[in-house]
Amino acid sequence: MAEPLRNTDDGDRPGRGAGHRGGDRTGPGGGRPAGGRAAEPAEAQDAARLWADVVATARRTVADGLVVGTSGNVSARLGDLVLVTPSGVPYDRLTPADLTGVDLTGRQVLGTLVPTSELPLHLAVYRTTDARAVVHTHAVHATAVSTLVPELPSVHYMAAALGGPVRVAPYAAYGTDELAGNMLGALAGRSGCLLQNHGTITYGATLDQAYDRTAQLEWMCRLWLTASSVPGLAPSLLTEAQLAEVGERLKGYGQRR
Ligand code: 13P
Ligand code: ZN
Repeated sequence: MAEPLRNTDDGDRPGRGAGHRGGDRTGPGGGRPAGGRAAEPAEAQDAARLWADVVATARRTVADGLVVGTSGNVSARLGDLVLVTPSGVPYDRLTPADLTGVDLTGRQVLGTLVPTSELPLHLAVYRTTDARAVVHTHAVHATAVSTLVPELPSVHYMAAALGGPVRVAPYAAYGTDELAGNMLGALAGRSGCLLQNHGTITYGATLDQAYDRTAQLEWMCRLWLTASSVPGLAPSLLTEAQLAEVGERLKGYGQRR
């Protein structure tokens, strides 16, 4: 079972780095009964479970080569609570006690580690879409494409799984509201986009869906770079109408219940 939540309002702010935790780890509103663990409210258990999924997804981005070190970040929404990876902490060091949560205004409501520097990106997505999870990476092929074109040429029908041709948000420094604004423009009608000279961002109804969209986006970027690197030849591209047709077909893709 996961550790109970800590609340930043308990006045105990141990060192910032993972592995420097201490103090009272009882959950919100809960004392620890003698000889036992404090009872966890249902929402605290939900948050603890979701945090485990956030950490697992962040670790997957490293394991699958979509980021190096502490690059990228992952978040998931539970009601008005957004769980986010902390800034600059290697994902393999994150424990249940490192749960980090903010509200939709960015105010930290859970944990003591500094939230990701890309809070503006994540919160902009949650405020403007029905997203329940957001994944940001520095995947190498996607980032390469972001330096070459304003939109990923539609070399494959899986662009339809992200809502259509994938745009590139103009460059702005990481962690800024300007970058979040540029991203929202590129995301219109899409569940993912590229960030110029930076990386990817995708969202979904679940962490798995947001992650899979990132993996598909990176794969499509690799495909385009591969096809367009043959001297004297240029890849054939799909029209918007062809992508729209696939968008409809994908609604029935997979197993029927
Ligand atoms: P954080 O470690 O603050 O999440 O930043 C990583 C990143 O990718 C910034 O764009
Ligand atoms: Zn980044």
